[in-house]
Amino acid sequence: MRLTAQIQQLGTETAFEVLARAKRLEAQGRTVLHLEIGEPDFPTPPHIVEAGSRALWGGATKYAPAAGLAELREAIAQWVSRRGLSAGPENVLVTSGAKPMLFYALTALIEAGDEVLIPDPGFPIYESLVRFAFGRPVGYTVDAGRARAVDAAEIARKISHKTKVLVLNSPHNPTGAVLDSATLQVLAQLVEHHRLTVVSDEIYSQLVFEGEHRSIASLPGMPERTVLIDGFSKAYAMAGWRLGYGVLPAAMVGHIERYIINTTSCAPPFVQHAGIAALTGPQGCVDDMRDEYRARRDFLVASLNRLKGVSCAVPRGAFYAFPNISGVLQRTHAAVEQFADALLDTFNLACLPGTAFGKGGAEHLRLSFATSLPTLEAALGVLQGIVEAAV
Ligand code: PMP
Repeated sequence: MRLTAQIQQLGTETAFEVLARAKRLEAQGRTVLHLEIGEPDFPTPPHIVEAGSRALWGGATKYAPAAGLAELREAIAQWVSRRGLSAGPENVLVTSGAKPMLFYALTALIEAGDEVLIPDPGFPIYESLVRFAFGRPVGYTVDAGRARAVDAAEIARKISHKTKVLVLNSPHNPTGAVLDSATLQVLAQLVEHHRLTVVSDEIYSQLVFEGEHRSIASLPGMPERTVLIDGFSKAYAMAGWRLGYGVLPAAMVGHIERYIINTTSCAPPFVQHAGIAALTGPQGCVDDMRDEYRARRDFLVASLNRLKGVSCAVPRGAFYAFPNISGVLQRTHAAVEQFADALLDTFNLACLPGTAFGKGGAEHLRLSFATSLPTLEAALGVLQGIVEAAV
């Protein structure tokens, strides 16, 4: 058997690998502190589970239209319209999580040699998919510690005649940075001027702690140039249900619909009914979870900043802290990957090295605070012990 070079070189998301290693350690009887995976620790809110199970018992177990149930597409169109986007249900396609839509959008837009601007550090799947499509990823910096996390001038400098797509992710994994309106406006001008397409991953759109989420797709001229990607995994604690969506320019919809027909056929209809309940039902559950994440964030970031050799910008969205630990690495003479490995192997603390998110993540760790306060306290105890021992 000879597999394609394309599949042999396919990248990955380290979070899943570290989770698997942590589970193996747990199977050996160890207790692991899980700060690696970006998955809410909350159960799916009961009214959503109820709607899904009612649909299951009610026979929503057949194929659904490839594009998604009409009622869900309508609910999504209304949802994004409330955020200032002009999109109708005909622009919406439903997928099994946000990830498939990322795959469809990027592989539909990128041809061999095309350059794609991606955040660095950034969600590793962007680079992986760009390479899969034989494109060339060009990283731009995201730094939650700056007044403007993304520098539009840097992006402008990096646009060439080969640039085809700009990938945005706000709120941002792994830094928690949120793009401000002024930056979005300049980026929109660049996109128009250079005739780029934006793939805007807004999976954390409902997890903004200060201020409001803004989508580039809400700016004039942008809906025709933007694939907006969002989903249910994070805000509604539905990661295992696998439900997401794209809001696409009219010219792309039919093609991506055929992509869905060629791959998954449709997202499971009973899961889509749960999604309808999530969007049209009470939103207090999201507010409650966001409040809890905010409290955890405040505790985690303040505690990290008290550690010698550690500095952590305040994430304004998502549920990750991304501390710079260069001071600790210097004293322990460790590379960040070794350091993260030792945290798991020796101290039962699972988290990710910043380099799992690209070169821009050097000397950082990513700590997910989608986990309980006692877990975070225990994790900080571990880090504090290491930092004090290294003095
Ligand atoms: N985009 C980003 C930035 C993410 O962090 C994640 C999940 N870790 C996804 C997309 C994938 O979300 P889903 O579970 O909906 O496929």
